[in-house]
Amino acid sequence: MAGALSPARRVSILGATGSIGASALDVIARHPQRFALEALAAGSRVEPLLELCARFHPRVAVVADPGAYAALRDGLAARGLATEARAGAAALDAIAADPGCDTVVAAIVGAAGVSSTLAAARAGKRLLLANKESVVLAGEILVRAAREGGATLLPVDSEHNAIFQCLPPDGARGGVRRLLLTASGGPFRGRSRESLRTVTPAQACAHPNWVMGRKISVDSATLMNKGLEVIEAHHLFGFPADAIEVVVHPQSVIHSLVDYVDGSVLAQLGNPDMRTALAHGLAWPERIDSGVAPLQLAELARFDFERPDLEGFPCLGLAYAALRAGGSAPATINAANEVAVAAFLDGRLSFPGIPELIAATLDALPAEPAPDLDVLLACDARARRQAEEICRKMTRA
Ligand code: NAD
Ligand code: MG
Repeated sequence: MAGALSPARRVSILGATGSIGASALDVIARHPQRFALEALAAGSRVEPLLELCARFHPRVAVVADPGAYAALRDGLAARGLATEARAGAAALDAIAADPGCDTVVAAIVGAAGVSSTLAAARAGKRLLLANKESVVLAGEILVRAAREGGATLLPVDSEHNAIFQCLPPDGARGGVRRLLLTASGGPFRGRSRESLRTVTPAQACAHPNWVMGRKISVDSATLMNKGLEVIEAHHLFGFPADAIEVVVHPQSVIHSLVDYVDGSVLAQLGNPDMRTALAHGLAWPERIDSGVAPLQLAELARFDFERPDLEGFPCLGLAYAALRAGGSAPATINAANEVAVAAFLDGRLSFPGIPELIAATLDALPAEPAPDLDVLLACDARARRQAEEICRKMTRA
């Protein structure tokens, strides 16, 4: 029928109670004709999930921690909500693949998201990918699963979303010379390694331009976030490490660039607000309002660029080395980083201890072939045990 609205997309958000989850829900709420919520999922805290259920009325709510099932079920009932309660890792995978949704926002933090992200890829969903750790851990497997399952991978990480927007359509990649990932430099840009000994988790989480979850905020402060993003770009766009460069751009307005052989450089700009990338992924190839304020170029004082400080912030170099080593190395670096960041946030490890712990874990576990997911998950588990042990020794010393 001419002029009829296409049926609403049915969206499931994995990691709904986090920072990306909130931005996704904000965009979705602006377009009630376009989007309906199938499922909202969270890790272990039930109260924030219940609040979202009361506001957005998803068909299903999932909590990853099986021990939280009764609290979720009873909380939904006490609020008189029709939302169905489910719990456990298998329930997460099941809703990621459920025919009741066509779009999945993968916004769980850490390698904990790998199984559900893969499930959505295999099931052929439109997959809005924020959970970069699962790409670092299992990038080849994820990209293959998406191809075989007929999924559409839409990067939500702002840099990768920018590159996606600046690249030519598939098949015309021959004209691309380099991908240029921008980095803000984080809250400690310009500081000496020595002066970072005493920084606190609160200081590390106070990002100058973005409001994000605590883990990615620490990753931004160490530059490991950019290292994970280099590996992510390699998998999503198929470029080797040598063709992916990082440039520090403290204003975070240019989200990344593509450099072509004829000298053209295309960039995507915008205010630093994740709703732009989420709206792009939700509506692609159309464009919808995201709630992000228009960029006022005349009000921006200037754009600065500098090279990353690889000595003060060794994590970026470690990530490049892991990408070049291949095999199990990216899984190892991701796992060691998750352990190190958790130890730093708990006050058990100093800020410079993060790259020290990661480097020691990589030294203890040299790269080996990792041909399938079982091997990668075993490498992830072994790297976590190794990193915990090294962390205990480092903190005793
Ligand atoms: P966050 O800490 O704010 O939220 C994390 C979400 O994951 C929460 O909903 C939490 O309940 C859920 N979760 C945690 N552990 C879980 C588990 N074991 N099983 C199931 N769910 C679990 O994190 P965030 O900042 O929203 O980041 C989410 C992901 O998106 C990360 O991979 C991050 O690197 C990526 N990302 C975030 C931003 C940003 O601006 N926040 C930007 C780019 C990429
Ligand atoms: Mg990013």
